[in-house]
Amino acid sequence: MSANRAEACKGCTSSVQVTDAQIERLLSRIKPEDRIDDDRYKMRLEACASCESLAYGTTCMHCGCLVRLRASLKAERCPHPLSQVRPKWPA
Ligand code: SF4
Repeated sequence: MSANRAEACKGCTSSVQVTDAQIERLLSRIKPEDRIDDDRYKMRLEACASCESLAYGTTCMHCGCLVRLRASLKAERCPHPLSQVRPKWPA
């Protein structure tokens, strides 16, 4: 078993692991008016990078979203169950 397989969720397959190119392609489809500003995007991603709920370096275990996509959207919030009392993402 490879290191990646050992870290993978038992319910998931390699299909949940996406490349940077795939993420960039998805990001390019987001309308500019729906995007958050660059500074807040960076702060959100920094929070995700240090979060225990980040899987594969790309995916939030609470919603199954690719965090680079979710964090880029103005209307989205961090789905962590404690985010109402202890926000993971800055406001
Ligand atoms: S719980 Fe929030 S901070 Fe953690 S990976 Fe998911 S979106 Fe990012």
